[in-house]
Amino acid sequence: MQIANNKVVELLYELRLDSATSEAFETTTPENPFVFLFGANNVLPDFETHLNGLKAGDKFSFSIKSEDGYGEYDEEAIVELPKNIFEVDGKLDENMVKAGNVLPMRDQDGHAMNGTVVEVKSDVIVMDFNHPLAGKDLFFSGTIASVREATEEELDHGHVHGPHGHHH
Ligand SMILES: [Zn+2]
Repeated sequence: MQIANNKVVELLYELRLDSATSEAFETTTPENPFVFLFGANNVLPDFETHLNGLKAGDKFSFSIKSEDGYGEYDEEAIVELPKNIFEVDGKLDENMVKAGNVLPMRDQDGHAMNGTVVEVKSDVIVMDFNHPLAGKDLFFSGTIASVREATEEELDHGHVHGPHGHHH
């Protein structure tokens, strides 16, 4: 069976950043493969374009430019926020709010977004709201493990159920 819209694709991949020879940034394993519903906007459009038509056992290797991946790095997405909004009961949790940590936050409209702490200053916290992969060219390589028809329920929900999919 070939990969096409409404198929459930299980694959193993390695993701490298910036070059095809850099160290793997992300690796899946046979115990924990990547599974997704093809054609349901669950992954980058270019990711699907490169996998379209492949079948179980096929190998793949392709790259996606940053502008087609997670976007260019945006200097404006680095902001200083008043320290008090990070405080709970007037106290800053210094184990949580420290450089390099990713914090779940909300924007003005209440949308969930992750921010990375860049620096803790005396009265402000410098946060970076760029996607961690912004500005990075993505290099994927791997193997298609299986391709199957999605169930009615999976198509209805727009995602995969089962061992490596959603549980609910
Ligand atoms: Zn579901």
